[in-house]
Order: sequence, then C-alpha cells, then structure tokens
Amino acid sequence: MKKRHIKNLAAGLIAVFAVACSATQPAPGERYVLVIHGGAGTIRKADMTAEREQAYRETLEEALRTGHKLLQAGSSSLDAVEATIHVLEDSPLFNAGKGAVFTHEGRNELDASIMDGQSGKAGAVAGVRTIRNPISAARAVMEKTEHVMLSGAGADQFAAESGLEIVDPSYFYTPERWQSLQEVLKQDSLKTTGNDSKFGTVGCVALDQQGHLAAGTSTGGMTNKRYGRIGDSPIIGAGTYANKEVGVSCTGWGEFYIRHVVAHDVAALMGYKGLGVTEATEAVIAKVGEAGGDGGIIALDRNGQMSMSFNTEGMYRGAITESGEIVIGIYQP
Ligand code: ASP
Repeated sequence: MKKRHIKNLAAGLIAVFAVACSATQPAPGERYVLVIHGGAGTIRKADMTAEREQAYRETLEEALRTGHKLLQAGSSSLDAVEATIHVLEDSPLFNAGKGAVFTHEGRNELDASIMDGQSGKAGAVAGVRTIRNPISAARAVMEKTEHVMLSGAGADQFAAESGLEIVDPSYFYTPERWQSLQEVLKQDSLKTTGNDSKFGTVGCVALDQQGHLAAGTSTGGMTNKRYGRIGDSPIIGAGTYANKEVGVSCTGWGEFYIRHVVAHDVAALMGYKGLGVTEATEAVIAKVGEAGGDGGIIALDRNGQMSMSFNTEGMYRGAITESGEIVIGIYQP
C-alpha cells in the first residue's frame, strides 16, 4: 500500500515538474507530417550502450523515412501510418510485432488499432497471436468489416482469410523479452519491472497532402499480463484517436489511459476548448500523472504542429517535416 502511494506521489510530481518534454516546432513555413513513438518508460542514458542507442535511432529514422516517402509520393495518411508501423513492428527493439512482450503464460498476445481522421472510421484487433503485422489487421477490420474491434482466435482467423501474413507464434520469441518475463515473474507484478520492459508500444500519426490525418498504435501490451488482459492500445479513444483536426497515439500504463480516455481527451480539449496541440497533450498527460499513471502521448494537428509529451524518464520518439527534416529523441530533453 505504502509503496503504491509513494509511486503515485512520485508519478504526480513527475507530471507536475517534468511534463514539458514536448514539442520542437518546425521553422516558419515548415510543418511536420509524421510523428512516431516507440514506447515510454524507465529509459535512462546510463542504462544504454552506444550500440543499442544507435540501433534505436536508426530504426526510428527508417520508420520516419518510410512514411515520409509515401506522403511525398501522395499516398494517404493511412498508408503512411501502416507502413511506418510495419518498420517498428518488424524490429525486435520495440514491444510490438516481432519484439512483443510475453504474457504470464509465456505467450505473445498483440493489440493494435488505426483510425482515419477524415472518415472517422476505425479498426482494431486485440489478443492476436499469429498476425505478423497487427496494424494491417486493424486496418483490414476497418476497411473490410462493419465492425471496429475483433479479438483472439476470431481476429487471427479473419486476418488469415484476409490474406495477411500469418506466422507461427514462435516468430515473436526474442531472448530479451523472455528474460524480462522471468525477472517480472520473480516479483509477480504487472506494475514494477525495474527496467523498461514494461512498455515499448509503437505509434504513428500522419498528415497527408490532402490534409487528412490518421493515427495508429501497435503493442504486445504489458509483460506478465494475464487472463486475456487488453490495454488501451486497441481501444479507440483511449490509445488511438483521429479526427479532421488532430491525430493521437498513446503509450504507457494502459489502464490509466483507458480510464481517462486519453487520446480522445486530447482531441476534445482542442475541439471544445480551443487548446493547441501542445497544451492539450500536456494537460492530459498531467492528469494521467496525477492519477498515478505514466507514459506518453504523440499528437499531430492538421496544420503540421506536433507534440510528444511524456511523464516518464524517456520515450522513443521522432518526427519528420514535409521537407524531410528529422528530430529524434529518447531521454528527457
Ligand atoms: N499502453 C500499453 C498497454 O497498456 C503498453 C505500452 O504503451 O507500452 O498495453
């Protein structure tokens, strides 16, 4: 109890004092067209080797350039979000696709969602075990069914019938994530892993040449999750949201993001209260922190203003402007 209270207090303080880890706005006349995150958490420079940091930076850059290339060629924001997230899902570095964390039982159960800001359509999958790129399954749910979310074996079957790439569950095995599970199992807690293995979700928001926004999020969830636990990432309004004004993708302790309907709350503050993208994400992440939750939010508005806010020690993140200028960050600024 006491420990929990101290943790909440600490999270609140982090939220109050360190929340302004936000936006670098582009030079006049420039606008951001793609923003990504690769998860927030206890990410410290002291714990990172130069090689590992380099690998993260290179993959974030590859993801940004992939989406940017499509946008430059006139592709839709949805195409850019899907392709960008593929790069992150295919990397073992992030807790999504290939690098997904393990459940209590030693399985990988993946969640993803995508939303098209222009049409207001959305799709999601939860608890899937055989889909190589869950973000594509989320998109297929949005485009090929009249539903928003499919889960478990049914979602795996739907993906196979839709012609998506199906893999053996062993594809998702990585020694690092397996080791993290063993460490967490010793503590038997979802909440304190003492390293950054808890988080690592990936997300992307894109703005295309038509001025249309899309957002997507993909994750393996939280290490040691059990009983079919589903976090915020596949829940529209919690982990992902997009409308004609802003796109949002979240990462962090999912239960808090669900309770606070975080992604939609950012859009609501902008739409109803007239807040800018930075003010809105900072207000919402502060609220999450005050409640005892931790994590981050990325958002991009229709004018190409973006924000990357978090109340943790770090968040893998990056953004690219229309002309191809890149910003990448990992730690607190
Ligand atoms: N939000 C994710 C979840 O709770 C975890 C994360 O963002 O890393 O499932």
